[in-house]
Amino acid sequence: MKWVYFDNNATTPVAPEVVEAMMPFFLNLWGNPSSMHAFGGQVARHIESAREKVAALIGADPSEIVFTSCGTESNNAAIRGAVEAMGRNVRILTSRVEHPAVLSPCRYLREHGYDVVEIGVDSEGRLDLDTLRRELASGPAVVSLMWANNETGVLFPIETIAPWVKAAGGILHTDAVQAVGKIPIDLRKVPVDMLSFSGHKLHAPKGIGVLYIRRKTRFVPWMLGGHQERGRRAGTENTPYIVGLGKACELAAAYLEEERTRVAALRDRLEQELLERCPDSRINGDRQYRLPNTTNMSFLYIEGEAILYHLSDLGIAASSGSACTSGSLEPSHVIRAMGVPYTAAHGSIRFSLSRYNTQHEVDYVIEKMPAIIHRLRVLSPFVRS
Ligand code: PLP
Repeated sequence: MKWVYFDNNATTPVAPEVVEAMMPFFLNLWGNPSSMHAFGGQVARHIESAREKVAALIGADPSEIVFTSCGTESNNAAIRGAVEAMGRNVRILTSRVEHPAVLSPCRYLREHGYDVVEIGVDSEGRLDLDTLRRELASGPAVVSLMWANNETGVLFPIETIAPWVKAAGGILHTDAVQAVGKIPIDLRKVPVDMLSFSGHKLHAPKGIGVLYIRRKTRFVPWMLGGHQERGRRAGTENTPYIVGLGKACELAAAYLEEERTRVAALRDRLEQELLERCPDSRINGDRQYRLPNTTNMSFLYIEGEAILYHLSDLGIAASSGSACTSGSLEPSHVIRAMGVPYTAAHGSIRFSLSRYNTQHEVDYVIEKMPAIIHRLRVLSPFVRS
């Protein structure tokens, strides 16, 4: 079956150019870049070249790029590294809609005595900026706020927030796993201290991530061992994946405009047609200020998972904001934090597109969805007769 893959916020296909760039580092250039001999040493310059490409995508200096194994590692390293550097009394500010890769380390630190504040969002998924400002006024803080939400695509105004955190003497980390490669990011203009992203969200393989650490940021490394990555992340470099990520970042920069125009137009057409053709449907999250590739839609009175099963049978991959916990289908923490009404929250699904998607695929989903929704509504215990 040929799949229509609309689940690119979960993971993306590896770009063929990326695979091609990686192959020599499995087959020939497999030496250890830290070796004294030239066979290994020749690999080091490819790592540095990849570092330059990665840095260029986000407006960083190459020396500020630390390669990790994934977005989750980058988030953990950033939060714990900053907290340890700031000392025992530091407070931690985050939001209620972060990915578990931020919420879990923050909650772990709360269990270990730290004061952690999870700031809420409004019904459109927008951060409560008044509360953030109030909290920033009451002492030094490590702040971890996502640039783009993985479920709704809603963007937090990191450009606005970063100077506030700086003025308050805090450290700002942003989980930009969903933002990098989809929207322009220029860290010369936005003074965040640390930023995480992940290869597999931008057409590089799974198993490679980045932690950007601005020069002079207080940071205690978590992974201890060798001196790789200037002592900020020990462990022999994953050369093929680093090279692949460099290529993926180069491609992402080249496709950024297409993401904002063609991909956004495909997403807009998909959601507009579905809103019109499927009664009792709605968009979750701010439609203005969000990623160009993502839509989170609710189809009232039915379960998102049921829709996904039917879509999957037709070769369409999407995802739901719900997690199946102890036999009950609970809406995700993001949808709940937004206060989406019960009847809509359960029928929430996410379509996330990429540069590999086509108009033809969008048309296929538009054609198939109304009948699925109709069939499920007929069976729904929530639909009033
Ligand atoms: N942060 C966000 C916003 C994400 O969407 C994800 C993955 O879905 C992660 C962090 C974790 O990234 P990784 O899968 O590379 O560990």
